[in-house]
Amino acid sequence: MESYKVTVTKDYIVFASAHFITFAGHRCEGLHGHNYRATVTVEGALDPDAWFVFDFVVLKKIMKQLCDEIDHVVLLPTESQRVKVTVEDETVKVAVDGKARYVFPRKDCALLPIPNTTVEMLAKLLSERLKAEIDRLGATRVSAIEMEVEENFGQSAIYRVTFA
Ligand SMILES: [Zn+2]
Repeated sequence: MESYKVTVTKDYIVFASAHFITFAGHRCEGLHGHNYRATVTVEGALDPDAWFVFDFVVLKKIMKQLCDEIDHVVLLPTESQRVKVTVEDETVKVAVDGKARYVFPRKDCALLPIPNTTVEMLAKLLSERLKAEIDRLGATRVSAIEMEVEENFGQSAIYRVTFA
């Protein structure tokens, strides 16, 4: 049995964003930023005509787009039990553990359907968004996606998902 995978990491597949995470108990970070960088690996059978797993040009374009969507914004979780995000007109209000903490302009926020803005959850979210694009393109030979998100030099999380 053979398998192939392609990997893309580029200096433009990055996003510079603000976030804070909550920890177990009542600990919560203050707002700060990272220069995040994504590396994606796509596994699957070869396209019988092109002899590749997935077109690099297309993969780079999708990843750039996905990173641009969350670049230069405040990343906020909408599925947190402790971080409550409320949108009122052009304003986003953020409370943590019932206490008001931040108010941001709506245009400066990315509201993400994750429980905490850890690199693990960002990697999972990017992977799901990539899969949606791959499905839209009808690339049925993709059998696995591995997404690494680095928030600092030598500090990253990897999410991997396989498809039947
Ligand atoms: Zn951080």
